[in-house]
Amino acid sequence: MYRIEQRDDELSGTTAAIRYHCWFDRAAEHLLRVRMEIDLQPNADNIRLTLPSWAPGSYKIRDFISHVGNLHAYDENGCDLPIEWVAKNSFRLDTAGASHIAVEYVFYANERTVRTMHITRWRAFLFPVNCLFYVEGRTDEIHHVLLYYDSSQWRTLTTALSPVQPLDTATMPVILGALNYDILADSPTEIGNHQSATFYACGARHDVALIAPVPLNVEWLAARCRTIVEAEASMFGGTVPYDRYVFFVYAGANLNGGLEHARCSVNMCDVSALTDPTKAKSLLALLCHEYFHVWNIKRIRPAEYGPFDYTREVLSPMLWLAEGFTSYYDDLFAYRAGFYSREEYLDILARDQIGRLLHIPGRHAMTIRDSSYLAWVKLYAQSPDGQNRFPSYYLKGGVLALLLDLAIIAETDGVRRLDDVMLTLWQKYRQSPERGLTETDVLSAIEQHSSQRVRDQFWQWLTQVDDPDMVAILSPLGLEFVTDSAMSTELLPPERWAGMQLKSDSGKLIVASVEDATPASRAGIAVDDEIIALNDVRVTTPEQAQLLLRTAMGSVTVTASCDGRLYRTQIELRLATQYRLQCIATPGSQQYLLFERWLERSIEG
Ligand SMILES: [Zn+2]
Repeated sequence: MYRIEQRDDELSGTTAAIRYHCWFDRAAEHLLRVRMEIDLQPNADNIRLTLPSWAPGSYKIRDFISHVGNLHAYDENGCDLPIEWVAKNSFRLDTAGASHIAVEYVFYANERTVRTMHITRWRAFLFPVNCLFYVEGRTDEIHHVLLYYDSSQWRTLTTALSPVQPLDTATMPVILGALNYDILADSPTEIGNHQSATFYACGARHDVALIAPVPLNVEWLAARCRTIVEAEASMFGGTVPYDRYVFFVYAGANLNGGLEHARCSVNMCDVSALTDPTKAKSLLALLCHEYFHVWNIKRIRPAEYGPFDYTREVLSPMLWLAEGFTSYYDDLFAYRAGFYSREEYLDILARDQIGRLLHIPGRHAMTIRDSSYLAWVKLYAQSPDGQNRFPSYYLKGGVLALLLDLAIIAETDGVRRLDDVMLTLWQKYRQSPERGLTETDVLSAIEQHSSQRVRDQFWQWLTQVDDPDMVAILSPLGLEFVTDSAMSTELLPPERWAGMQLKSDSGKLIVASVEDATPASRAGIAVDDEIIALNDVRVTTPEQAQLLLRTAMGSVTVTASCDGRLYRTQIELRLATQYRLQCIATPGSQQYLLFERWLERSIEG
């Protein structure tokens, strides 16, 4: 049976027939040493061990097995057991007559992302789905992880696993456990000298682990995490579905992204997100996003998402719910928690959500359901041309969730909203946690809280590629979406737009992407071309090009290179566009009431 819930006290004092001993003595080489011990069941003639090929939440085959080396298996007398590979990530051992066996290997961990392992001489991020094999047919058993490291050098440990003995990080090994392999796979651990903080909210313990190159204000971070917990939990009845939760936050150069787990989230950001109050807001929205997944996807989940087949792609047309709705709620909760003002929130919706979607030609080329189903070979196999061929289910799903929320509010005179739909899905999940949700479940919940008309309209948005009728959705709340041409400033003419993104690469100015049906695409400019000069002025950086395009007054001659040969072309520039979401000048009283209902929050500011 699929089970993701685990309380720390359920592991206390347990024993396990599957044990992973993990040594960090080769951490400086980015290596983890593993000895997996398995007590065999009577009459087990052979066992099969498999390493996952992907990490749930990140829909790409990553073949973690490629980082495994020096693999050996031993019988109970310490004699070599032959390894018979039966798949690229799976092998069989002949265990006839044995009562226990051991498997040893090293795992190379040197990729600093939220979904992969990273171990250095200073610290280690242990993510079990990357590096710990499971025994086929025995994933429902208790699994233990035994950690051995120099605790005089690494003084702090934060984990989503549960301690088997009271945590004493001075005595090795530290023994942690999970009730089954799914929970183990989903539960990372950080060891090193990071900063940490603890707070209690909604009846549960919350740990914050801050891994950064310099000391930063972890108490500030913990206070905001607490605000997020309280704001989001209140939408789901004021309680949380775990006894303990960990916010892992990694700050450093070129770090970004997040990954959700049932009892924790892993978040990455630039250090400036913890030193600059303006840049902090995007980190806080990221924390809101990953924390919202506690409900939406880890528990309220598409039927396909658990139990997982870790060996191959798991396809679902419902990422518009799992990621799209979560994208809507991340900024909304950043607003409800008081991190954004009302004006900032409306700006974000206009510029980063609706406005950005309008620059994705691919929204007319593929439905969001198909983009979701094909996530493994579309969003996660992103090509520079991708934006022209499909819409992101994060971006379009977020905009559709916004429009659905507004449509429900308008349809019910503000009595209901999308929050009610999510609460109903949560209640449905709790009635039978082992069963995932279908699209019909979601549509029924929408109809229950609005009408068949809203349900049918939403289904159309999911299955068709036309843009929703924004005016019809916005006007009942007295809202309008305004598209303006860029304005000139005191010193510069208005910004111009060509429809291409440029990047610097080894001192050259390279075309990173080109939108279909834009001035740049009409001029025949393509991805990977080098832009050499604009109006015969040499350019090498995007900033130089931007200034030249802005001052070119409409038309610019481009000297470029494709595949080593020069060409010249002419771009007819357009004025850049600015987007605003705003209240109409004189809203009616009903419009005003519905608008206020949409943006109500308990925090002043
Ligand atoms: Zn997400």
